[in-house]
Amino acid sequence: MSNLFNYTKEELEKYFLEIGEKKFRATQVYEWLYQKRVYDIDMFSNIKKEIREELKKQFNTDFISIVDRQDDLLTHKYLFKLKDNEYIEAVIMKHDYGVSICVSSEVGCNMGCAFCESGRLKKVRNLDVYEMVEQIILIEEDLKVRISSVVIMGIGEPLDNYDNVISFIKIINDAKALSIGARHITLSTCGIIPKIYELSKLPIQINLAISFHAPTDELRSKLMPVNKVYSITPLIQAIKDYLQVTSRRVTIEYVMLNNVNDSVMYANTLADLFKGMNIYVNLIPYNETNHLEFSRSSKKKINIFYDTLKKRGINVTVRKEFGSNIDAACGQLRGRKNI
Ligand code: SAH
Repeated sequence: MSNLFNYTKEELEKYFLEIGEKKFRATQVYEWLYQKRVYDIDMFSNIKKEIREELKKQFNTDFISIVDRQDDLLTHKYLFKLKDNEYIEAVIMKHDYGVSICVSSEVGCNMGCAFCESGRLKKVRNLDVYEMVEQIILIEEDLKVRISSVVIMGIGEPLDNYDNVISFIKIINDAKALSIGARHITLSTCGIIPKIYELSKLPIQINLAISFHAPTDELRSKLMPVNKVYSITPLIQAIKDYLQVTSRRVTIEYVMLNNVNDSVMYANTLADLFKGMNIYVNLIPYNETNHLEFSRSSKKKINIFYDTLKKRGINVTVRKEFGSNIDAACGQLRGRKNI
């Protein structure tokens, strides 16, 4: 028995063909689930009873559950309980251009970045596709909003759960499902190089963000253990190749850690690395956590770093902050925090 929200439309079409049915049944199922928001298979009235019985033998539409919600003016943080009693979180942000959600892709995370809260809980398992899809569905229903953009930047490393994350992207992008445009979907990775190459071949042209955070291998390996396996030179090459294949600008995330990676020298080294490439650097003011060895760079230092990059011809922005009052800020989600 598998959850219906796990399936891309192509997979459901294949299923229906296999049981001797027409493939448009998959579209009908999608319309019930994603447009009419009807989850009881018995209610799928344009699908005849025998097929519904068959469907019920194969599939369920079980939901994960919302167990807590914390609200700020423009931010809501949700805690979900999964069927096996694991917990994950998602954050909603209301912008003037729409509502965005930051979804989790794993229970815990194995990447072990020195400054990040999420990694305190080691990876327990991948999230199933339905557990990602339902974060969106449940919140849309709870807040009575339509989510217009999705960032895969919550707990977990999405490229470490590649197949499920790709199915998730296909489903939310599908015009008969949530119809979230590819340009409104962003995947953030710490830089798993082989998967960046795979991602470049995906026909859905989503936005790619790379958590970079340090321009030398010495410092990056200290902050992000993944750099010991996938170091800067091949990572830059992978980004160049990705740009060549997709022609889509890549975001370089750089969290501003006081006296760690925020000097003018590092800004210049970063500019050298990305010279002439179609990228932009997003400077992220660090959200202070229980990792007491790290603090946020001052506004002044962030501005100097910004100006240095700008002068060197690098496109750069400073990320607007959301949700820090309710510990929903970037990198502060912790699976077991509230329980
Ligand atoms: N594993 C993926 C996605 C999850 S982390 C990745 O590494 O990109 C999302 C982003 O938040 C990453 O850029 C991460 O480095 C950053 N981050 C982690 N902790 C943070 C903190 N305390 N303050 C600001 N950003 C943080």
